[in-house]
Amino acid sequence: MTKHEIPKKHPRFESLRTRECIIDGMHQKIVAEAGLIAHGRGEAFDYILGEKTPEFALRQEIFAVVTMLVAQHPVISVNGNVAALCPKEIVNLSEALEAPLEINLFYRTEEREAAIKEVLMKAGAESILGIDPSYQNTITEISHLRRIVDTRGIASSDCVFVPLEDGDRTIALRKLKKDIVTVDLNPISRTSLTSTVSITNNITRAVVEMTEFVNEFKDYSRSKLLEEKNRYNNKDLLQEALQFMSSRLLKLANEGNIFENL
Ligand code: ATP
Ligand code: MG
Repeated sequence: MTKHEIPKKHPRFESLRTRECIIDGMHQKIVAEAGLIAHGRGEAFDYILGEKTPEFALRQEIFAVVTMLVAQHPVISVNGNVAALCPKEIVNLSEALEAPLEINLFYRTEEREAAIKEVLMKAGAESILGIDPSYQNTITEISHLRRIVDTRGIASSDCVFVPLEDGDRTIALRKLKKDIVTVDLNPISRTSLTSTVSITNNITRAVVEMTEFVNEFKDYSRSKLLEEKNRYNNKDLLQEALQFMSSRLLKLANEGNIFENL
C-alpha cells in the first residue's frame, strides 16, 4: 500500500507510483537499501528515454522472448526490486513462458527471502525456487552468498532471465555458457553489455510487453522461432538504444522545447 496519495493527473504519476512501490518494498524488507540506489539510477535513464517504450525496445523484447521460447529450460530470476515493482506481471510472464521463478538475491537474508516469497505467492505464484536448502547448489564463479542457486532452476538452466541484475553475476552466469536475458535501463552497464539479450526499458513496461509477445509467438514452430531470433543482434540493438537516448538529448539541446515535460 502506498502511503502518499499521488494525483493520477500528475505528469509523472507512473514514476512516482513506482518510487512509492520501492520505498514500501524496503519497509516490508523486500527491497535492500542498495535497491533504492539502483532504482534511482534506473529512473535517471528512464527520464532520458522519455518514460515510454521506444520502438527499438520492442524489438529487444521480441528477441528476448524468442530466445526464452527456444530454450530447453528457461528460468526467471527474481530479486527484491523486481518483486516490489511488478509481482503480478512477473508471475504472469512465468506462467505464459512456463518458466519457473527463482528468488536470487544480492543481499540474501532469510527475512528478505520470506518477504519476497510472500509477495510472489500473493501475486499468484504456485511454486518458487531458490529457497529450499535441500536444492541449493553453488556457482564457484561467484563469490559470497550470491553464488547460491537452485539445482532445479538456475543451476540446470540453459537460459536465465535476470532483470535488474548486477554485472558480476551476469558475467559469471555467461561463463557457465548460459544464455542471459536482462532488463536494464542503462545500455552501457556491464550487465547490458555482457548479456545475450538486453532490454533497455523500464521493467514495469517491459515485463507486460514481453508477456504479450510470448502469447503472440508461443505457437510458432521451433524453426520459425530460430529464424526470428537470428534477425537480431544484441550489440546493434544496444547501439540503437544509445543513439535513441543521445539523439533525444541532442534534439532537446539544439532545437526542441526543453519545457516539453512540464
Ligand atoms: P553493472 O553491475 O551491470 O555494471 P551497476 O552496478 O550500475 O551496473 P546494479 O545496481 O548492479 O548496476 O544493477 C541495477 C541496474 O538496474 C542498473 O543498471 C539500473 O540502471 C537498472 N535499473 C534500476 N531500476 C530499473 C528499472 N525499474 N527498470 C530497468 N532497469 C532498472
Ligand atoms: Mg553492479
